[in-house]
Amino acid sequence: MSLARLRAVPAPTEEAQRQDALDAYAVVDTVSEQAYDDLVRLAATLCDAPAAAISLIDRDRQWFKARLGLDQTQTPRALAICDYAIRTPEQMLVVQDVADDPRFSTRVVSLGGRPLRFYAGMPLLSPDGHALGTICVLDAQPRELRPAQRAGLEALARQTQHLLELRRYALEQRRLLNEREAFAHRLEAAQADLQRRHEELKHSASHDALTGLLNRAALAQLRGSPEAMRELESAPYALLLLDVDHFKQVNDRYGHLLGDRALRAVADAVASSVREGDVAVRYGGEEFLIVLPATRLAQAYEIAERIRARVARSSLPFALTVSVGVAAGEPGRDTPERVFDRADQALYRAKNLGRDRVVADDTMLRE
Ligand code: GH3
Ligand code: MG
Ligand code: MG
Repeated sequence: MSLARLRAVPAPTEEAQRQDALDAYAVVDTVSEQAYDDLVRLAATLCDAPAAAISLIDRDRQWFKARLGLDQTQTPRALAICDYAIRTPEQMLVVQDVADDPRFSTRVVSLGGRPLRFYAGMPLLSPDGHALGTICVLDAQPRELRPAQRAGLEALARQTQHLLELRRYALEQRRLLNEREAFAHRLEAAQADLQRRHEELKHSASHDALTGLLNRAALAQLRGSPEAMRELESAPYALLLLDVDHFKQVNDRYGHLLGDRALRAVADAVASSVREGDVAVRYGGEEFLIVLPATRLAQAYEIAERIRARVARSSLPFALTVSVGVAAGEPGRDTPERVFDRADQALYRAKNLGRDRVVADDTMLRE
């Protein structure tokens, strides 16, 4: 083996990069395309050759993207003269008589049943100089190319390279588009997630975690909202102040877990007894405030009774009762704080009268 030949063999890393460059076109094993077929036909006509091909040198084979006068779609790389041609990427390889050339004694190729004698191949390069394969013309008899034919074959190699570049560009654009779409999807999902967390946070800031009712912060916000106050004071309204009876004993006797369950049962009784637009708040540990807009005292009393009855019926392993104070608010006459105080006094009386009852504030009737 000559030194020149040794130098012509690409180093393994170079070959790996060359293979990567070819893979970037994703062209090997694709269907035939008119544009490439046309270039091969032009090459054969121009060079007066019975056979021509666009050969791509893949890992261990040469594969023809386009071919004329050749039966096979691919050959082993070891048999490919094109594999030899790509070792001098800038130069056309012309072999006037393959039979006469010791370099190709092992690369026996037949052309329509006759042995291949003439070969001329111009390497196809990637933009960074990797030889991907060749555009080549072949003949079954020894011969030469005229200078104009050489120049023509070089021009066709450049056209083939343009075609390949177009293909790679289109692939790259598609990949970028897919990436952008995937990114947009991820962004949308992240935004939806953020929105959901925001809603959760907003909900947990205004709701009591144990019972799901509004908390005191939400009540303070309502009180501070002129719009909400205007709405409340557009008609007579009522407040219920509810306190669980002997709840300390419930905790002491049955433990905090059952105590919590009891509080949830009370909250359920409240929630299922009020209407949309009513405001149910866990006001303290075992105290609840219910605001009933556009509700008269008698009606509020009935609602309080309903709650009391529902608590008494709730399925707990012990009896649970509540006391409720009810007070009515006349817009323009009472502040909500004043109505709250009266509900609180009514609750105090309910406790003093023996608990498990609803007491309505009667100061309005007495005044
Ligand atoms: P009364 O009938 O006079 O209202 O008596 P009470 O025992 O219900 O009143 P008190 O105010 O003495 O006790 C309230 C109890 O509620 C004390 C506290 O430990 C309990 N409590 C407050 N918040 C919670 C809670 O979130 N879970 C549980 N399990 N208990 C709570
Ligand atoms: Mg209490
Ligand atoms: Mg209590």
